[in-house]
Amino acid sequence: MSKLLIKNGKAVDPSAGMNKNFDILIENGIIKKLSKSISRISKTTKVIDAKNCIVTPGLIDVHTHLRDPGYEDKEDIFSGTAAAAKGGFTTIMCMPNTDPVLDNVSGIRYVFDKSSKAPVKVFPVGAISKKLEGKELAEIGRMAQEGIKAISDDGQCIQSSILMRNAVEYIKMFNLVLIEHAEDTALSGDGQINEGYISTKLGLPGIPSLSESFIVARDILLSEYFDTPIHFAHISSRKSLELIKNAKKRKVKVTCEVTPHHLIFNEEYLQTFDPNFKMKPPLGSESDRKALESSFKDGTIDILATDHAPHRIDEKEREFSLAPFGVVGLETALSAMISFFINTKKMTWLELVERMSVKPAEIFGLEGGSLLEGAPADITIINPSGKWVVTEDNLVGKSKNSPFLNMELTGTVKFTIANGQVVYGQI
Ligand SMILES: [Zn+2]
Repeated sequence: MSKLLIKNGKAVDPSAGMNKNFDILIENGIIKKLSKSISRISKTTKVIDAKNCIVTPGLIDVHTHLRDPGYEDKEDIFSGTAAAAKGGFTTIMCMPNTDPVLDNVSGIRYVFDKSSKAPVKVFPVGAISKKLEGKELAEIGRMAQEGIKAISDDGQCIQSSILMRNAVEYIKMFNLVLIEHAEDTALSGDGQINEGYISTKLGLPGIPSLSESFIVARDILLSEYFDTPIHFAHISSRKSLELIKNAKKRKVKVTCEVTPHHLIFNEEYLQTFDPNFKMKPPLGSESDRKALESSFKDGTIDILATDHAPHRIDEKEREFSLAPFGVVGLETALSAMISFFINTKKMTWLELVERMSVKPAEIFGLEGGSLLEGAPADITIINPSGKWVVTEDNLVGKSKNSPFLNMELTGTVKFTIANGQVVYGQI
């Protein structure tokens, strides 16, 4: 019987309104006891001294690209989950734009089987349409029986209103959430960065923020009409937030996420043509960024998600217009939030943990998001004042396309514990 005791840490669990020193005893993968002081139970009990550390329910990322199967040169299930563990995540959901696409039972089984040996829990997201072609629905019902929590054509966006209608109506039967990558592709076209002053100045084709808001408006109507949950991935514009805020007032079942890069950077960063600031949706104006920041604070934006999107350096380091969209984020998300939101007093620990653990669990029906007795022992132990510089060498994921490269961030993960096992950190 394995026992682990976490002592002297500050436990932060918004699900229980907890924000003070507690010791935590873990037994057989479960939080057995939570108390002001627990002494070592037996000689075999391992002890972690969490003095000056923050102890939170394990972080959950609902938007990761593990690139496995098919693009293992960029990332695979083991390298991606190692990056997740280092970033403090104990559960991740991975997107289906692999090769082959995760649009059927065998693909979903492949991810569940391979990830059963990975350090953190992985839930594959099933595709909405076969091969992400936006023409015909995937095997959604059978994938639901395999245990998926959500469907998405992330990277693509279904343009056909009738196919979307069918998907939204159909998933009501299975208790699934539809995750939308909102992009009207006729409007985004071959755009490279946000349409505006900077795109004109750099001579690059622009993507109007309207491309996102158009689909957000459509999907809010569908969600309302069928009373089905739709979750908007990586929301990026002020207009989309207005639409979501209004929909929430009407109790429409829509939720949304934001990435650290959209919260922290704006389109100005593209002036150097650095491909590590090129992603979809593109970084917006400062006005968009400010709207994201205040909506993240007031809860209009429910959760933080990384959209961890690994690409090889030789793919990124090409002519800007040929470089693929996307940046990695699993290893920097928490530190970025501590550096730019906690340390600047824009947000409290309770608020941050709610958006990085409690809400993701709640929205997608995942285990975790709690430190209470009886909860699975998924726990992150954070040194909030540890400093580190993001370099290619200290990222453990296979790809290094981070917009935070060469920046000094504050906050390091000391231990990640998944199912009661230490999967990152040395005792
Ligand atoms: Zn996407």
